[in-house]
Amino acid sequence: MLAGEVWAKRASGEIYPIWMTMSAVYAENDSLTSLVFVFSDISSTKDAQAKLDRLAHYDHLTGLPNRLLLNQKLDMAIARSAPGSEYCCIVSDLDYFKNINDSLGHAVGDELLQEVARRIRQSCHPDDLVARLSGDEFTVVCQNLPGVEQAEHLASRLITCISEPMDVAGHDYYQNVSIGIAMYPRDGGCISELMKCADIAMYKAKAEGRQSYRVYNHDMAKQANEILVVERELREALLYNQFVLHYQPVLCAEGGLKGLEALVRWQHPERGLVFPDYFIHIAESSRIIINLGEWVLREACAQARRWLDAGLVFEYVAVNVSGGQLEWDFYQLVERVLEETGLPASFLELEITETYLMTDLQRPELVLQSLRSLGVHLAIDDFGIGYSSLARLKQLPINRLKIDRSFIRDIVNDDGDLSIVNAIIAMSNTLGLNVTAEGVETEAHYELLKQHSRVFSGILLLPPGGCYVCGALVLG
Ligand code: C2E
Ligand code: MG
Ligand code: MG
Repeated sequence: MLAGEVWAKRASGEIYPIWMTMSAVYAENDSLTSLVFVFSDISSTKDAQAKLDRLAHYDHLTGLPNRLLLNQKLDMAIARSAPGSEYCCIVSDLDYFKNINDSLGHAVGDELLQEVARRIRQSCHPDDLVARLSGDEFTVVCQNLPGVEQAEHLASRLITCISEPMDVAGHDYYQNVSIGIAMYPRDGGCISELMKCADIAMYKAKAEGRQSYRVYNHDMAKQANEILVVERELREALLYNQFVLHYQPVLCAEGGLKGLEALVRWQHPERGLVFPDYFIHIAESSRIIINLGEWVLREACAQARRWLDAGLVFEYVAVNVSGGQLEWDFYQLVERVLEETGLPASFLELEITETYLMTDLQRPELVLQSLRSLGVHLAIDDFGIGYSSLARLKQLPINRLKIDRSFIRDIVNDDGDLSIVNAIIAMSNTLGLNVTAEGVETEAHYELLKQHSRVFSGILLLPPGGCYVCGALVLG
């Protein structure tokens, strides 16, 4: 019996695929008497196969090839390429895209992704391979670019065209993107190595301010490995209770205790006491901050309760909160911790950095509002370096601004810093906010800021020990 796929023609003239089997029929003397052909129409099976193939290889939302097809095409292209061929691989990831989905819904998120896909495709040469890797991650692979500069030009073009306003459902949305670039064969000999390098470069772009591109180099891989080690150690540190809180006291200018800021330290088994500047950003990028932040909150509230029970007089304990912790349901955690520890909500102040509040356009109001409704106080930390506008500040339900210590460091000699601090104090008064100056390290800082505190009823922050180091002045 013979079998195979052949084309047939319908009466209408349409060509369609059929499956044909041919069997020979023999007489008793073994002579061939006839041939029996059986035909079956397999066009619907073929259609189904094509659909399955499309589903397996193309992204249904944008119509772009997916990761699987990209890998197959590239592996094939690399295997067939002439010696000396160069490829560039660009990986792009939208900045804060999750916030769009969370705050505006998936329908708006989907439309934005489709528009981003269109813009990327339009910015590239028809021969370039454009694919959607996952959620908000796209990649472009170009062959035979004359050098990395050309890849950088393309990356800049992508950043510019994606950041143009996008009209979705009658509203203008702004979307930024971070990009990593890797080159074949310089950075990797196969597609998976190349993508890994481009990914590392893209995360570097994210870590260094987003809305930019970075070209991969070997130092980045070393750093990425070190970060992986720290991430593992941080997870262990949570497990083995290696974190401790140190409290920076807040003293009134007249001398009484006003509040305490909880500052986390890592009691590392080999490296000793490690300060947060070393590990908080790693905890943030790996989301370990969710668990670490919960531990800090619970520990600080429990400690504050113990101090209250022991008769210590103070107004609040301040806890630093990272942007990544501020999910819509964060208030439920705060409510639970207050309940568990028995600390009244009015004794808790949460510090959120200005940079975080100014990068997310939609959500902070809702999240902060839900926290305020619990009765906790809210402060903007490191104020002055995040470019807040007055209009924006007015929308936020906050109680206090903490002036970044970079404005205080030279305030005694630098009239520019002094006038900025004065402007912040005046603005805070207009908005009815308390204001704290951080980093009052010297007596000169203290004396100068106390003059302002006389005008704005000042409070001085001092470290344990009481000298004028690591202090901050609360004005108004
Ligand atoms: P921050 O919240 O602005 O905290 C103030 C930092 O400035 C602390 O550093 C404090 O020790 C230091 N400081 C205060 N006054 C002075 C001064 O007069 N002179 C000098 N030289 N330093 C002063 P620290 O503890 O190293 O914390 C650094 C940052 O790490 C904090 O800045 C905060 O953003 C973050 N951080 C600390 N603990 C936590 C935490 O539990 N959760 C989160 N998410 N972030 C934390
Ligand atoms: Mg703080
Ligand atoms: Mg600060």
